[in-house]
Amino acid sequence: MRQTVSFDDVLLEPRFSEVTSRSEVNLSSRLKNFGELKLPIIASPMDTVTSVQLCTEMYKQGGLAIIHRYNTIEEQVDMALQVAKSGATVGAAIGVSGDFIDRAVALVNKAGVKLLCIDVAHGHHISVRYALNALRNTFGTDIHIMAGNVATLEGINDLADWGADSIRVGIGGGSICSTRLQTGHGIPTLQSVIDCAKTHSDVSIIADGGIKNSGDIVKALAAGADFVMLGSLLAGTRETPGEIIEVEGQKRKVYRGMASKEAQMDWKGSYRSFEGVSSTVPYKGSVKRVLNDLETGIRSGLSYSGAFGIEELFMKAKFVTQTSAGATESSTHIERR
Ligand code: IMP
Repeated sequence: MRQTVSFDDVLLEPRFSEVTSRSEVNLSSRLKNFGELKLPIIASPMDTVTSVQLCTEMYKQGGLAIIHRYNTIEEQVDMALQVAKSGATVGAAIGVSGDFIDRAVALVNKAGVKLLCIDVAHGHHISVRYALNALRNTFGTDIHIMAGNVATLEGINDLADWGADSIRVGIGGGSICSTRLQTGHGIPTLQSVIDCAKTHSDVSIIADGGIKNSGDIVKALAAGADFVMLGSLLAGTRETPGEIIEVEGQKRKVYRGMASKEAQMDWKGSYRSFEGVSSTVPYKGSVKRVLNDLETGIRSGLSYSGAFGIEELFMKAKFVTQTSAGATESSTHIERR
C-alpha cells in the first residue's frame, strides 16, 4: 500500500530567491480554451458560495466563479445574465442527467456562458463520458468544459480523452464533505494533484477540496495545479448567498455541502444518501479583502521558492514531509490571551 500526503504533511523548502517585491510575482494562469485569469482562484459551485455578487467580485479581483446548478434553468440563466450585465465573465455548473443538455443550451444561448462545469461527485464515471460526448456534439469546441471530480491519473487522463478542457481534482477532501466517512473512498487532495500533474494531456488542473489557507494554495500550485477551487475560504463573506446569523454572540453565515441532507431537502424536498454536512462559518466581510489576503500570501509563497510565476513554482518546488510534531510547530503555537 502506498503512502499518500495531504497538505499538512508537507512543506516547501525555501529556495534562493531573486524576487525583490511581491508585486514582481505574476499569478496569472491559463484556462485552456477560455483565457487567462490574473488570480488562480475559482469559487465552488455551491448554493452558499456563488451569488451574482460573489461571481461579479471574483471576476473583478481576477478570479472566476461557477454559478451553482441547484435551481431551475430559468433561475440559473437569470443569474448568469445578471453577472454578464455587470460586465463579468462567469462559468455555470450542470449535471449529467435529466435536463442537463437543455440547461447547457439555455446557459450558452440565452446568457452567453462560455464555460460549463460538469459538476458531479464521482467524475471518473461513464455518465460523465456520455455527458462530455453530448456536450461536444452540441457545442463543438466553442465552449470550455470543466469536469470532475477525479482523484487519480487514470481519472484525469480519461476525462481529458473524453473532451474536458479543465478538471477538478480532489475527492473527499472538502471541509463540509463526509464522502470518506460514508464510503471509505478518497485520496488526500494534495496527493491527487501530485498524481494528476503527471498527465500528458493538455488540460488545466484545478485543486479542489480541503484548502484551508494561502499556504495550502501555494502547495497545490507547487504540486502542479493551475488553479485552486475554494468553498470554505470564500464562505461567510458578505457577497455569498444567505443571511448573517448570530451564534453565541458571533456573526456567522451558513456553509453547507451540496450533498448534505439540508441542501438536498431544500432542492429536492427529500434526501437519499448524504455525503456532506451543513455548518456555519464566521462572517468575514467583503470577499475582496479575503482574496487580497490570500493573494498576498500566495505572492509571498512564490517568493520563498524563488519563483516569478506559477509554472516556475512548479519547476522549482521542493517538497519535504513533516512529522506531526513538525505540523504542530508549523501552525502558530503561542498561547493566545
Ligand atoms: P472546501 O473548499 O474545503 O470547503 O471544499 C469545497 C469543495 O467540496 C467543493 O468545491 C466540492 O468539490 C466539494 N463539495 C461540495 N459539497 C460537497 C458535499 O456535500 N460532499 C462532498 N464534497 C462536497
